[in-house]
Amino acid sequence: MDMDESAPILDGGNSLRPQKRIFLGLLVVTCLLFTFILGVLWYVPYVGLTSLHPRLPFILGISFFIMLSMVFGVVAMLALTVMLGRDLFFSRKLRGVVIKLLLPLMSGVGKLCGVSKDQVRRSFIEINNQLVLAQHPRAAANKLLLLMPHCLQFHECQFRITGSTLHCKRCGKCPIKGLAELSEKYGVGLAVATGGTLARRIVVERRPLLIIAVACERDLSGGIQDSYPLPVFGVVNRRPQGPCFDTQVDLDRVEWALKNFLIPAEVENKVESSRFKVQS
Ligand code: SF4
Repeated sequence: MDMDESAPILDGGNSLRPQKRIFLGLLVVTCLLFTFILGVLWYVPYVGLTSLHPRLPFILGISFFIMLSMVFGVVAMLALTVMLGRDLFFSRKLRGVVIKLLLPLMSGVGKLCGVSKDQVRRSFIEINNQLVLAQHPRAAANKLLLLMPHCLQFHECQFRITGSTLHCKRCGKCPIKGLAELSEKYGVGLAVATGGTLARRIVVERRPLLIIAVACERDLSGGIQDSYPLPVFGVVNRRPQGPCFDTQVDLDRVEWALKNFLIPAEVENKVESSRFKVQS
């Protein structure tokens, strides 16, 4: 059964929500494990090292201490960036560390602690979003892409929207209608992908500077990893009918992200011109 991901983070997601706490909690467990392993590695050869040179245990101890300080430093910086929602020093680099190193590590530690893969992935997506937000990236409408999964489309819809979402007749039976309206209102590209391969091709062809992607935990985590260093803001879909079937998305959250990432003057222009269209 799906967890409830319905609550939008309209405050920018700066609070330490449970999703983020899972990832940060696993990080702390990893740090403690790392400390324990280094402690054992230092203590076991202690006697043997002394016989080689009396200062060797001290030198080894200092090296381990420096390594530990670096690991704790990265974790502390990550936690502070997530809690404060500000780019403290290297949030771009931190995102790289989280994506390339910590997600695989956290999945392993999560397994040991009885945390499911999807919970770790969901937490990773929240942390990733927070790090993207901390960079305050802004993009012109034509450089921002809404990337959607095909499972959002109503299962009986006969219109082929993977080639172009303009084929959607906006009947309102699925969220594609609302997404097409958002795409039109803000002038941003909207693409629907049937899987990771097509999603990658769309990104290569359209060359966006920023992506707002909707998908399940697995596909979103994979997409965020594949697209790095391109910033991807992830929105987990809802699956009231089970996985990959007539899924739903929180449109308010997508619009919030759009307003947040578009260049402010463009948001005002687009909203003004869409108001004008409605009146005329
Ligand atoms: S909103 Fe568009 S994609 Fe969805 S069912 Fe209607 S026509 Fe098909």
